[in-house]
Amino acid sequence: MDNCIFCKIAKKEIPSTVEYEDDKVIAFRDIEPAAPVHVLIVPKVHIKNIKEINGDNADLLKDIHNAANKVAEKLGVAESGYRLITNCGEDAGQTVFHLHYHLVGGRKLSPRIL
Ligand code: AMP
Repeated sequence: MDNCIFCKIAKKEIPSTVEYEDDKVIAFRDIEPAAPVHVLIVPKVHIKNIKEINGDNADLLKDIHNAANKVAEKLGVAESGYRLITNCGEDAGQTVFHLHYHLVGGRKLSPRIL
């Protein structure tokens, strides 16, 4: 999508620190990290958020989880633990309307989600 910042990152039109990439997914460091490890896992195809996941594109969730596992291993949080979060819509705090999961770890996180 033309004006989407994550589409531009996926196409390398905007720089990012890439931690993992395959033909379906790109994972790069969040520009405002909330923890020592904060990576965004993003499908290359433009989907607004999980509300747009359906029977035709749900395979992407496998690709995203596969990427998340690889990122967690690479960045050393697979054993210590991490949180995988996706915000859907304005009330959830979604600010970039291209589906993404935050992989956050590298320190003890609050046990509460909110
Ligand atoms: P959300 O609020 O769930 O939509 O998350 C959007 C995330 O994208 C925020 O954590 C931002 O810090 C992050 N972000 C926005 N622009 C960039 C960028 N150019 N490179 C990396 N992360 C970004």
